[in-house]
Amino acid sequence: MNLMAQQRRTLIAGNWKMNGQLTANSALLGDLLATPLESTCEILVCVPSVYLAQCEALLQRTPIAYGAQDVSAHQSGAYTGEVSPAMLADFSCKYVIVGHSERRAYHHESDELVAQKALQALRSSICPIVCVGETLEQREAGRTNEIVVTQLRAVMDVLDDGALARIVVAYEPVWAIGTGKTATPEMAQEVHAVLRATLAERSEFAADKVRILYGGSMKPDNAKELLEMPDIDGGLIGGASLKAVDFLAIVAAA
Ligand code: PEP
Repeated sequence: MNLMAQQRRTLIAGNWKMNGQLTANSALLGDLLATPLESTCEILVCVPSVYLAQCEALLQRTPIAYGAQDVSAHQSGAYTGEVSPAMLADFSCKYVIVGHSERRAYHHESDELVAQKALQALRSSICPIVCVGETLEQREAGRTNEIVVTQLRAVMDVLDDGALARIVVAYEPVWAIGTGKTATPEMAQEVHAVLRATLAERSEFAADKVRILYGGSMKPDNAKELLEMPDIDGGLIGGASLKAVDFLAIVAAA
């Protein structure tokens, strides 16, 4: 691992997806807060936007940060149902997931739309966690690198070097999300290295600075070996982030 890699602070981010309600959220956050977190890594929960106010009330001035799971590509206007980056910022939200494979698949989000979301989030000082990943069919066709690089380049195309250095990338093979199947550490590392090399083509500084998270059935029993890989700077955790004991075990592994 090079010196810069050691300076990247590991980020363990939970993605609650469309789970939780006020009472259950309080209980889960209470359990997370009740455990003394000695970890030096950054801990984040990404919640449905309607619960950002609850997170602001419960998590401000704690070691746990909070973020949203999606954002509009527009700052304001006639976009019924959308939530703008400025609105997220009203709740001191520091991160937002963009381009999760569930949004790409069920809401037909294009690479260009995801890129606009990342750009607009940054304009409101919110760090976008840009998800990229291939389907099983694409992997079996040997297209993994081509797919993830295309997805990342769309974002790189709309950001200047300074903004690029501020994003987080999450490599989430679609076939591993919520399936219990995980990429092996070597498989994940290979893709992470390709993503970092792609960033380096534009800016060595950004390549060193940007954290690349792995997501896809990361669990307490496989987190350590994944997180030991030189280009894996953290995890985006779905299912296991809904149980405090599992999420905390992943934080401990980091
Ligand atoms: C995710 O939702 O981003 C995810 C990685 O889910 P899981 O950990 O459940 O596979």
